[in-house]
Amino acid sequence: MLEDLPIPTDKSLCLVASKALELNPEDFRILQDALDNPNWPHSKLAQELRARGFDVGETVVRRHRLKTCACVR
Ligand SMILES: [Zn+2]
Repeated sequence: MLEDLPIPTDKSLCLVASKALELNPEDFRILQDALDNPNWPHSKLAQELRARGFDVGETVVRRHRLKTCACVR
């Protein structure tokens, strides 16, 4: 009866978190460490991530790190 009930797409994650889920475990850990490292300025971290193919902007990185992104809602 309910076989075709769709699985809701998770819209509660911001771009950083949703993209992080696509990373392999090693990259995921490196990303988490970088996000937790206060020595990384938001803009520089976003720039370096983009240079490596993790296409995020400074704004989403900053909001995710400051926990003002969609993840915490
Ligand atoms: Zn987030």
